[in-house]
Amino acid sequence: MNTTNHVDGHPPESAAIPAQNSDRLPPGQLFMDGAWCDSRASQRRTVVNPATGLVITTAAEADAEDVSAAVAAARQAFDTGAWPRMPGRERARTLFRVAELIRTHADELAMLETTDTGKPLQLSKMVDITTTIDLFEYYAALAWSIDGATRQTAAPMLAYTRREPLGVVAAITPFNFPLVLSVTKIAPALAAGNTMVHKPADETPLTALRLAELLHEAGVPDGAFNVVTGGGKTGEHLVRHPQVDKIAFTGSTTTGRRVAALAAETVKPVTVELGGKSANIVFADADPVSAIAASVTAFVFNTGQFCAAGTRLLVQRPVFDDVVAGVTAGASTIPVGDPLSPHTVIGPLAGQRHLDKVRHHVDRAVREQGATLLAGGERLADTDGYFYAPTVLADVDQHAAAVQEEIFGPVLTVQPFDTEEEAIMLANGTAYGLAAGLHTTDVSRAHRVAERLRAGTVWVNTWGMLDVTVPFGGCKQSGYGREQGPEALAEYTQTKSVLVAVAPDAAG
Ligand code: NAP
Repeated sequence: MNTTNHVDGHPPESAAIPAQNSDRLPPGQLFMDGAWCDSRASQRRTVVNPATGLVITTAAEADAEDVSAAVAAARQAFDTGAWPRMPGRERARTLFRVAELIRTHADELAMLETTDTGKPLQLSKMVDITTTIDLFEYYAALAWSIDGATRQTAAPMLAYTRREPLGVVAAITPFNFPLVLSVTKIAPALAAGNTMVHKPADETPLTALRLAELLHEAGVPDGAFNVVTGGGKTGEHLVRHPQVDKIAFTGSTTTGRRVAALAAETVKPVTVELGGKSANIVFADADPVSAIAASVTAFVFNTGQFCAAGTRLLVQRPVFDDVVAGVTAGASTIPVGDPLSPHTVIGPLAGQRHLDKVRHHVDRAVREQGATLLAGGERLADTDGYFYAPTVLADVDQHAAAVQEEIFGPVLTVQPFDTEEEAIMLANGTAYGLAAGLHTTDVSRAHRVAERLRAGTVWVNTWGMLDVTVPFGGCKQSGYGREQGPEALAEYTQTKSVLVAVAPDAAG
């Protein structure tokens, strides 16, 4: 087993993930109205395996006409099709079939996700595929219970509410958990009776395209789910399109601002799940072994490309040196390498631009912000893949860019604190509010601090646990809206009130 920070054994060629899993997806095609079709645009993008730097396939760069065609298919499926009008329990049966098909094709989908993102195959199987199945089953079950209420009124009438789908939902997703972050939108949106156009990240479109086929095979009607591939421009065409009724967006805060502003032009509701810079607080009374283990996982999971990564470690001064030494040792010995090896814990970053960004942040922190490098700080050699060593930065000021800005790689800053009040102030002291965590054996402190942390999710004595039943989302510049849990259904439905006059009894 590889226990050091270098790329596991093989030269890039032999470590290459078999490309055949993407061969069955027609290169450069889009999925619309229940079938593959050619893009009207001539431009294509290459899709690269980040573990090897080798091209896997190409994807279309859908233009305005492509987007309009996909939206028209979704519009027609919504306005005249069966999907929005069938009882929720019927949609549920179809979504349960989707879950079953994903189970059947779990290995294939996991390999596609690993090829596309570089994440370890074990992780793709255990997290991405499992969560995807859970999401379809959970929202299939909830589709039975999307209903309204009756209200008491002063005048003689029957007043009741209906929860109805919004219409055509555009789902725009990032590269880090392509399948899961797509399905956190697709499962509740379809369960509620909406139709959809989905644009995955240009770097990682493969599982979205394959999922479109599986949804079709399960019986989702033609036009109810469509996929367009392409970059930010393709996304903007979708956001601006007047026939799109709702935008479900996950991505960076910078793009989220732009998306929300564009959506406002046509007064579309938006959910924006954005970036994070989450603080992980270790109090002196914490169990050191579990706090150190959780703190390493918090920043290296998915190569740090996790919106809720715990990238700011705050440690109470009496245990600062021991905890930081433990985390640094843990980060320095974590197995980084070939995503196909069962021993690998961390794969590469998702692409060259991500590697460049992480290097820039770390170099700037050391050169310009006076940070001390305790571990990592370098690209891992001997490979064409985008591997970067888990990195720990000490001696960082709260106002330094390394503390304030999302790096989106396996990079941790460490800061000491003295009091509970100071820990809360440091933890809340960025523009973000996605997640936070604390480690303590004092139960009162756990609840007291959890209440005061400005974050959508707070973990106590753990990090990164999520469940499809539990809502997830941000506050401050980490966005608004919630995904997962019953709360997500509210994001894909609107309430209609029906008021029926009740005539007085003619005989009376
Ligand atoms: P990104 O650059 O913002 O891209 C996200 C998606 O938006 C991609 O599909 C992208 O297309 C598209 N896009 C780019 N510009 C657009 C525009 N002007 N209009 C419409 N769509 C546009 O984010 P990323 O780098 O892929 O992902 C990393 C970010 O996502 C991090 O900040 C991370 O924290 C955040 N994230 C948040 C959550 C959460 O739940 N809060 C979860 C995961 C990730 P292209 O990729 O093709 O350019």
